[in-house]
Amino acid sequence: MPVSVSTAKLGLWIGGEPQPGEGAARGLVNPATETPLEPFCEAIEDQVGQAVASAAAALPIWAGTLPGRRAAVLLRLADLIAQEADRLARIEAANVGKPLSQALRDVGRAADYFRFYAGVCDKLNGETIPLGPDQTALTLAEPVGVTAHILPWNYPISTLARGMAPALAAGATVVAKPSELTPFSAFEVARLAKQAGLPDGACNVVLGGGDVGAALAGYPKIAHVTFTGSTTTGRRVMQAASVPVAGVTLELGGKSPVIVLEDADLEAAADGVMRGIFFNAGQVCAAGSRLICTRGVHDALVDKLAQKTRAMGVGDPLDDPALGPLVSAAQLARVEGFVQRAKGQGMTCALGGARLERPGYFYPPTIFTDVPPEAEIAREEVFGPVLVTHLCDDAEDALRIANDSPYGLVAGVYTQSHDTALWLARRLEAGQVFVNGFLTGGDTVPFGGVKHSGIGREKGLAGLSAYLATKSIILNHARPT
Ligand code: NAD
Repeated sequence: MPVSVSTAKLGLWIGGEPQPGEGAARGLVNPATETPLEPFCEAIEDQVGQAVASAAAALPIWAGTLPGRRAAVLLRLADLIAQEADRLARIEAANVGKPLSQALRDVGRAADYFRFYAGVCDKLNGETIPLGPDQTALTLAEPVGVTAHILPWNYPISTLARGMAPALAAGATVVAKPSELTPFSAFEVARLAKQAGLPDGACNVVLGGGDVGAALAGYPKIAHVTFTGSTTTGRRVMQAASVPVAGVTLELGGKSPVIVLEDADLEAAADGVMRGIFFNAGQVCAAGSRLICTRGVHDALVDKLAQKTRAMGVGDPLDDPALGPLVSAAQLARVEGFVQRAKGQGMTCALGGARLERPGYFYPPTIFTDVPPEAEIAREEVFGPVLVTHLCDDAEDALRIANDSPYGLVAGVYTQSHDTALWLARRLEAGQVFVNGFLTGGDTVPFGGVKHSGIGREKGLAGLSAYLATKSIILNHARPT
């Protein structure tokens, strides 16, 4: 008997109402227990069109809503999410497999995004540009239009809010497509948004896989596509968005380096590296999956990591262990494939390296040491709890190894020397660099990648610009006669 994790039958959300998908049925299982969850039906293309049409119809209403009122709706939505945090976190834990306290944190982050962007609704100022005595130009920051949000499965509710909150704050409207693996929380947020007073049609949700995402990204009337997912899919989204000539924000994959130098506080570095790769079972775009460490401290650091990692409890997400399962059987097979190939190529596996013999898609923390930088496991995003280490001579050598990657999402540096830290931070090819900490930035700091890790920035005030279009008005005011 499938377990329902939400209070209403899971479906699409179009024009402020639930609607069953008319496409193929999809089954889901709880990744910790492999027991079925409530199935759902995908949207057909016509329903994607209905969702876009409903967002387009709501646009003048929402864009024309007084800024203070828009802010009040977003604040109310933040409050509703916070009030329902426990229920939403349990949905997320059962659907994604993430430990309950991590799911609660994600829900809190979602509420915080709506709160943060509520504060900017009445501060979307333009500027005036003097053009001499007889002309004045002024600019308006107008909502960009209907925005599409195509989401991955690793942080479903917080990634939805990361794009939806600034879009709504700007007065734009939203059609979201969560991952086909994690559809529950987007549906719940859409319901709460209606309860918070968002006009019908300002937020819509369509469910389905890549076909539904591709139809949405390329739909006429879409003005901007915010995509979070793999680099391969990001390229396809960019192509699809060229049809409506929509803007794109692409938050893509990573293979992020953490550099630990000889003078680093090793205890702090071990904590940061551990959190960076084993949090959310390594299914984190910004995971610190490459440890680049000077020779003198490498072995001591790996020992510390192994010691700390062995103490991590594994179990059902609802019991809040340190490590839950991977999201799906396919993701488990992907991680196993990378590890088996690395072993076959003679890499040294210092920890983990084989799936756990228990029901569910559990994979243990795994460390490969002294891996050649050109190895597949050092270059490709595994998206699981798998760390590789590289030995380096000094900061310069570390920088060379760190930047030798197609990706450029985040990077970490551990050293007591501020000069070295800044020297590295300025030269690392990454959108965000952490010094003496890792993944500590918070959600009010701009985030996004360079190189194959993406285009554009989300979070903080930088996250608003994708949803605003500047209009300039030139007033000609020649001397009255
Ligand atoms: P994915 O690329 O497989 O899918 C992401 C979304 O795109 C899903 O909703 C999917 O249905 C949809 N999709 C698939 N094909 C499509 C197409 N042709 N057109 C439009 N949409 C399509 O990624 P995933 O497996 O869900 O997530 C893991 C990836 O996401 C990793 O690479 C990870 O690094 C990345 N990620 C990045 C960030 C970030 O902020 N940079 C955050 C989380 C995850």
